[in-house]
Amino acid sequence: MTDAFTIERDAPLAARNTLRVAATARWLASVRDPAALPEVLGRREFRDVAVLVLGEGSNVLFTVDFDGLVLFPAWRDVRVVADDGRVARVRAGAGHGWDAFVDWTLAQGLAGLENLALIPGLVGAAPIQNIGAYGVEVRECIAAVEAWDRRAAGFARLDPSACGFGYRDSAFRREPERWIVTAVEFELDRTRAPRLEYAGVREELAGMGSPRPTPAQVAQAVRALRRRKLPDPAVVGNAGSFFKNPVVPAELAAQLRAANPALPVYPAADGSGKLSAAWLIEACGWRGFREGDAGISAQHALVLVNHGHASGAQLLDVARRVVASVEARFGVRLEPEPRIIGADF
Ligand code: NAP
Repeated sequence: MTDAFTIERDAPLAARNTLRVAATARWLASVRDPAALPEVLGRREFRDVAVLVLGEGSNVLFTVDFDGLVLFPAWRDVRVVADDGRVARVRAGAGHGWDAFVDWTLAQGLAGLENLALIPGLVGAAPIQNIGAYGVEVRECIAAVEAWDRRAAGFARLDPSACGFGYRDSAFRREPERWIVTAVEFELDRTRAPRLEYAGVREELAGMGSPRPTPAQVAQAVRALRRRKLPDPAVVGNAGSFFKNPVVPAELAAQLRAANPALPVYPAADGSGKLSAAWLIEACGWRGFREGDAGISAQHALVLVNHGHASGAQLLDVARRVVASVEARFGVRLEPEPRIIGADF
């Protein structure tokens, strides 16, 4: 062992995933310095094993024990790399908590991340899923992503065009065995206008008496909304939205809308339509469903919940049944947002 990392065998993961599934990892490496990654990954016992980067574990479902190396990124450095008084470039280590980082940027007067306040997880996870909320995606503020490339066995710096960002998607998500994100560089503009397309945010701000809000006030509104609408993982195990909103061809969206006038449909890229997955799931009667300790939140139909001791397999079974019933009724196949370990969805 060195100061840069520690390695544990047969490590319990129940407290390391927000669905609170009692899985274990064959090895768990806590790495405090990304420069140690080549040494850790190059150890003989890890050469041919699966590697999983696990931060707050807020976007993962373990359906089996993890027979490989779980890597916990414990480096959290944040620094301003350039600032012209209007736009600043800020580089944050992958292990920094996301919401604490958002707070830090707002305290510096930097705008851009306020709609993404209170999203669980670490900075390093943000580009992987291209996290998004209330009309903003993190890619809008990303200047570069630094990562360890396991295929090339070297560090890489990717500009946004090389990151392959899509809706809750990226090149890092499509090749999870290849990339270990080590840092993200953001470009944040002090003069960026607030993004208030989502009715919920505008209503919350109106209620706060802030029709012309500062970025910090937008973040405050988003936090209040999220706290009210989403179950707290400290109270009931969950991984936030478990299903992505399906993006379907415009004709199918129009057909579904004609047959179901209350179905929310939003314009998406290339003229296709984004449907509300929560609406589809609720229409099939799943909201508040519970079987043993596995279920769907009564607060929000997108959220798979573990009321206590549900296994990953039980949670997966509920999720699959939700998908099957939505597909049978609407002909639309939902996809999970979290990474599923040990099963193909
Ligand atoms: P909501 O405001 O009840 O809206 C339901 C869905 O409709 C959302 O998923 C959103 O899609 C879409 N939508 C609403 N207004 C829209 C607009 N003006 N233009 C385009 N699409 C619109 O949603 P919610 O469930 O409470 O979530 C609020 C926001 O937080 C959403 O952006 C959601 O993605 C985000 N969120 C993310 C997670 C997660 O785990 N990733 C968990 C909870 C909430 P989008 O999802 O594409 O925005």
